[in-house]
Amino acid sequence: MTDGADHPGIDLVSRASTSALLAQRLASIARGALSLLLPPSCPACGRGVEGPPLPCRSCDAALRLLWNEARRLEPPEPISPFLYAGVVKDLVRRMKYRGDRAAAGFLGEMMAARLRAIRIEPGQGFLVPVPLHPTRLRERGFNQAERLARIVGRRAGLPLFPGLIRRVRWTGSQTVLDTEKRRAAVASAFRPGKTLARRTVPRGSAILVDDVWTTGATAQACRGALEAAGCVPPILVLTAARAELARESGSDSPSLPGD
Ligand SMILES: [Zn+2]
Repeated sequence: MTDGADHPGIDLVSRASTSALLAQRLASIARGALSLLLPPSCPACGRGVEGPPLPCRSCDAALRLLWNEARRLEPPEPISPFLYAGVVKDLVRRMKYRGDRAAAGFLGEMMAARLRAIRIEPGQGFLVPVPLHPTRLRERGFNQAERLARIVGRRAGLPLFPGLIRRVRWTGSQTVLDTEKRRAAVASAFRPGKTLARRTVPRGSAILVDDVWTTGATAQACRGALEAAGCVPPILVLTAARAELARESGSDSPSLPGD
């Protein structure tokens, strides 16, 4: 039994590795074709990178700092991978105003990583994206919160329930409102989903998903609507980033994003 080809075990192994090699080869051809269409770039700054579209070296360092800053502010809520500043602001803006899927993909992955880190596993909850008003949805063409929630759902193994609440008031751009005005504007903006029957509410914790946590006003308003829809507290909040409001207390916050 010196010739490996005569040994059925080895033959199987070599056939298996041939098909594995073929699969690898095809995958690399597919990647090559894709990279011809879309050269890999950093999802945060758009600069070209070698290999997969991950943050470039300088964005990666900045992201690590903002990840650590967000840990410093936790708990209590929200569950957020990043502080909303610098390169994370750029990522959120790319995702939201340019519909950049690489930025959404990266932020969604990091949100799922944060859920895993605090041991929220499949079967322990379900995701509810903060809805946009239909007028705003028509304008933008997509709901950034829903886009993030879909990525988180796939990565974290959690189901998505986008119809549980709806937005009935268009509060317009909130970027120029101060905390109190924002809270008042958003307080009555959400209602339970129209067609929702109590028995359709899934088990586990509702996890509200949004792009940025600012004052907590949106989350508070959504909580009320979710409870009216039959969700049982605690209702958790997961965002891609959180603003640090302590440094801006009482003043207008023109740097905060609107919905
Ligand atoms: Zn970069």
